[in-house]
Amino acid sequence: MAPIGPHYGFGLYVHWPYCSKICPYCDFNVYAAKDRDTAPLVAAIRADIERHGDLLPDHPPLDSLFFGGGTPSLLTCAQIEDVVETALVVFGFKPDAEITLEANPNDILRSDLPGWQVAGINRVSIGVQSLNDDALQFLGRDHDSVNALTALSMAQRHFDNHSIDLIYARPGQSAADWQQELSTALALGAPHLSLYELTIAERTVFGMRAARGELVAMTDDAQADLYETTQEVCDAAGLPAYEISNHASAARYQSVHNHIYWNSGDWIGVGPGAHGRLTIDGQRLATEAARRPVDYISAPTAPPSTLSPAETALELLAMGLRPASGFDLRRYSSLAGAAPAPATLREFRESGHLAQTQDHIALTAQGRLLADHIVMQLMV
Ligand code: SF4
Repeated sequence: MAPIGPHYGFGLYVHWPYCSKICPYCDFNVYAAKDRDTAPLVAAIRADIERHGDLLPDHPPLDSLFFGGGTPSLLTCAQIEDVVETALVVFGFKPDAEITLEANPNDILRSDLPGWQVAGINRVSIGVQSLNDDALQFLGRDHDSVNALTALSMAQRHFDNHSIDLIYARPGQSAADWQQELSTALALGAPHLSLYELTIAERTVFGMRAARGELVAMTDDAQADLYETTQEVCDAAGLPAYEISNHASAARYQSVHNHIYWNSGDWIGVGPGAHGRLTIDGQRLATEAARRPVDYISAPTAPPSTLSPAETALELLAMGLRPASGFDLRRYSSLAGAAPAPATLREFRESGHLAQTQDHIALTAQGRLLADHIVMQLMV
């Protein structure tokens, strides 16, 4: 079987780039929502899905569709339904396909949740970010903890499959504070948590404040301590990590869409700035949509570039080691032309960073802390 391609999963990512407020730490491709006419962008996204349909006539039905952003919960139910319908007509969906909408708490409070279900959404990922009002203010969010809790309980009445996002390793956050916040979040009963460490990217408001010395990022050691706290608290609550930043109470709540990325399946990326990976005739193609909405509407995506087998192998290794389930090394070897050095594999096994059963490798919890370093060492 070919080492990459849609038989490892096939997904559609839709990037909706507008947000009601731009958060100071955000380095995604986002724009203020203001009072825009969004119809041309929805039409361009639908046309882009159709164009991909022409490009991929032999691809199977979709395993997943993911509305990310930006803030796709700003879309109307009719707009969501139109995009889902286009994907259905062009590619079709597997019987249990996952269709996720990323949603901000305030949008949930004012949205028609049954309408989301009618539109096809069967999973929501809620950007709670924190349950601490001071932290929410620091993060520049436009909701408070009461909004977040109300939104979560509303979402829980409609979507069994739901997730909450939290950001930790904020400047000055102690392990005890995080432990308490995380325990409170776990008690809310979401079957999936995405837990991200705050990263301070250069070209963000936080990046500029850090450059001026007004904001000091947490040290790597302190972050590692909080990461360990995260694993302990989540393990004890029955939501172990199934990937570096993602936790689920059962296999059925793991993100099907993200598994496609980690497993080097194929995914289409539509919407401004979206990236895709497609396999056609054994070639791995990388696509990147125009970043600015106005450009995307007039010319969505430049011609794809072809990744070399070595580039593809590196992506497979870096992504395949993220989930706790790991991946089959023979897939890597067939692309890279050789397996990682046995001595390097042995070293990481003996240090407790890597688990290996014949050709299958996976990082241990300890190894996930050093994932980037281990990938660099294993590369051939
Ligand atoms: S809501 Fe999310 S995507 Fe939008 S600016 Fe804030 S962090 Fe970025």
